[in-house]
Amino acid sequence: MPEKTYNVIIIGGGPAGYTAALYTGRANLSPLLLEGLQPGGQLSLTTTVENFPGFPEGVQGPGLMDLMKKQAQRFGAEIVQDSVTEVNFKVNPFVVKSSSGEYNARAVIIATGASARMLGLDSEKVLLGRGLSTCATCDGAFFKNQRVIVVGGGDSAVEDALFLKRFASSVTIVHRRDKLRASKIMQDRAMKDPRISFIWNAVIDDLLDSRAGMVTGVVLRDVKTGEKKNVDCDGVFVAIGHEPNTSIFKGQIDLDEKGYIAVKNWTRTNIDGVFACGDVVDHRYKQAVTAAGMGCMAAIDIEKYLEEKGV
Ligand code: NAP
Repeated sequence: MPEKTYNVIIIGGGPAGYTAALYTGRANLSPLLLEGLQPGGQLSLTTTVENFPGFPEGVQGPGLMDLMKKQAQRFGAEIVQDSVTEVNFKVNPFVVKSSSGEYNARAVIIATGASARMLGLDSEKVLLGRGLSTCATCDGAFFKNQRVIVVGGGDSAVEDALFLKRFASSVTIVHRRDKLRASKIMQDRAMKDPRISFIWNAVIDDLLDSRAGMVTGVVLRDVKTGEKKNVDCDGVFVAIGHEPNTSIFKGQIDLDEKGYIAVKNWTRTNIDGVFACGDVVDHRYKQAVTAAGMGCMAAIDIEKYLEEKGV
């Protein structure tokens, strides 16, 4: 049993978590932030970020996360690179267990984010941020007059294709079936657009070229015939959905029908004293700036909650 009870434990070291730590730190709540084993969240996997306000020349994703972390530490946030394995929200103070210890808290902010589903190829690890992206809004502008492939058949894939056609010389949607899952209106828009083409019943077996360290093409496999062929391109956008990082909270807190943390009255969850913010809540906007904004909201909500409790 830990001796210390923290006012606030923040779980997750992305834009939402760091911003919540900054605000709760400045509110003199001495928060503890457990940032997981991949500090920086999804931004740690990107290169240049051009759409985070305040950086007219753009900023490197990992560098931006490092600045956010330092800013929170400046105001007294304790930040530990530790991965949470279990929580118990049925007792008070709440218990947060990690790979290296156990912590107690009067209030908790969940900011564990979401992870883009990937294709499961070894080459993805090498080429992510080097022509391979999971965010068209973030990276589309880097592909001016270049040939891009979008993988997926849902609304995200079609929306990405419609966005990317503004920049790219060609946009090809590769889908594993012969029908899109996307809403009818989005499908119609994409199908009518001469700048968007489709390759049906196909999956990407490999991304080229890991050895060169940049995307130069893909190996496509026709799922009906098994036939493989190489297709040249300059960029690949994987848009096959996201998974919220909520597995450790199952059975402890209400999730919505998609598995994201359900919030009401802004950032409150069904457990009094547990708040949630960022991509673990949001399956619509999924931007660093919106996650940071929600981190601020959760911090303000928690300040009010603790004040009501006399802390
Ligand atoms: P989604 O609806 O789950 O679609 C994922 C797509 O990726 C499906 O077409 C699926 O193929 C394909 N896929 C999944 N795993 C794959 C794999 N391993 N290899 C190849 N293809 C794979 O995800 P989403 O498009 O991200 O949308 C998520 C939710 O957000 C949806 O409810 C969507 O309506 C909503 N959304 C709305 C908007 C909008 O309204 N503007 C924009 C974006 C997202 P199958 O079809 O064969 O299963």
